[in-house]
Amino acid sequence: MARGRVAALAVLAVVAALAPLDMSGSERARAVAVCAGAVALQILLAWIPIRWPKRLLAAVDVALVVDALVIGLLALLSGGADSLALWLLPVFCLAITLVLTIWPGVKALILSALVLGWVVWVEEPAVSLSESAGPLVLAVAIVVIAGTAGPVNERELEESKKRMQALHTASVSFTGAEDDEALTAIAEDTARALLPGWQVDVRRGGEESTTERQWRADGRAFVELPVLGRRNEDGSEQALGAITASRPLVRLGPTVVRRDAVLELRMLAGALSAALVQRDLLRRLEHLSMSDPLTGLGNRRAFDEALEVEMARARRAGGSMGVVILDVDHFKQVNDRHGHQAGDDALVTVARVLAQEARAEDRACRIGGEEFALVLPGADDTAAAAVAERVRRAVEDAAAEPAGVTVSLGVAASRGDDPRGLLESADARLYVAKEAGRNRVVAS
Ligand code: GH3
Ligand code: MG
Ligand code: MG
Repeated sequence: MARGRVAALAVLAVVAALAPLDMSGSERARAVAVCAGAVALQILLAWIPIRWPKRLLAAVDVALVVDALVIGLLALLSGGADSLALWLLPVFCLAITLVLTIWPGVKALILSALVLGWVVWVEEPAVSLSESAGPLVLAVAIVVIAGTAGPVNERELEESKKRMQALHTASVSFTGAEDDEALTAIAEDTARALLPGWQVDVRRGGEESTTERQWRADGRAFVELPVLGRRNEDGSEQALGAITASRPLVRLGPTVVRRDAVLELRMLAGALSAALVQRDLLRRLEHLSMSDPLTGLGNRRAFDEALEVEMARARRAGGSMGVVILDVDHFKQVNDRHGHQAGDDALVTVARVLAQEARAEDRACRIGGEEFALVLPGADDTAAAAVAERVRRAVEDAAAEPAGVTVSLGVAASRGDDPRGLLESADARLYVAKEAGRNRVVAS
């Protein structure tokens, strides 16, 4: 603002010095001096809020008074009430209303009226106020128009701020979302907040298009943005889903979707894509940290967690749960005789049998080198022993060449005791099974 003022005053000084106005040399010199003085004052006023921030409003008001006084003095020096300088009053009002708001604009208007009255009063009785009111009428019109257009811009700015806020809130909520459904719901709510009155549909799935599209159909304008994922290995883009928004085409209304709307939806699609990719990576990491790479079964950590969770559930429901621990018999010999690879293959065979024999709610894990375990929610001693026996037989039957193996199994079931105790019982029974000659189940 200060720079604009100084530039405007410099232009005025040049005009005062050179314009073909009916002014004497000394009047021109005084006009240039007024402009120079005003420049100095405005620079001083611009510096005040930097030094004393609380004086900002006072400095703004004083600067307005200086502006108005300069125009008045220039008018008096260049022809009084008929001076062209008075037409600077509407320009002054316009600049203040546009750069600040309508209220400083009204102040500028009041100052303009005072300046005009002052100039006319100095000239009295040569002219009347009504004869020279032209600049003031124009200033009033300007403040009203610019002042009412201003709030429209402000409202738009406010709306745009709200939409940015909605996007930011969505990004934050994405990170805390429970699952992909929650992510979709947040994206849908946000898209509706961004585009009130639009129909919004957020879909997930890899079969969506990877390009942005706009089209019109059935009297509606559509826009579709892809939610992209990580690139495929061949470099092609991968779609994780899409956001589609549509609204009815209004007669004489715009036929294309507002650019801002597309931009905002694009940001939302980007945030959703980042959230989905992150969740996918987290899921993979979680899976990796819980699974055994050789057999694909859960690992020791998965087993411990399942045991804990299922035992708590059994305690709450007052039900029972079973655990089976099994160990491959004479496995060292298998390795020694047939090689490590054959040993690995035998482990994979045992894992396949376990996965086949387990129900959906059971959890099969590899908890050590050639040790496996089953967590059997809802199973009592008898049920768990039956599962163990089925497994034993199935491993025996699956005995693949060259390394057929058998397993020994220890079984324990309980009603919500401590997991460690249950595990120790099953382990002790496995030991008994080994001692008793292997390839057998010990359940009590
Ligand atoms: P037991 O009937 O008493 O259980 O005899 P065992 O030979 O199975 O018992 P032991 O614990 O002495 O041997 C386990 C062997 O399992 C030792 C190790 O070489 C082998 N082993 C452990 N993890 C793996 C694996 O991932 N792959 C292969 N091939 N062998 C493994
Ligand atoms: Mg063994
Ligand atoms: Mg062992």
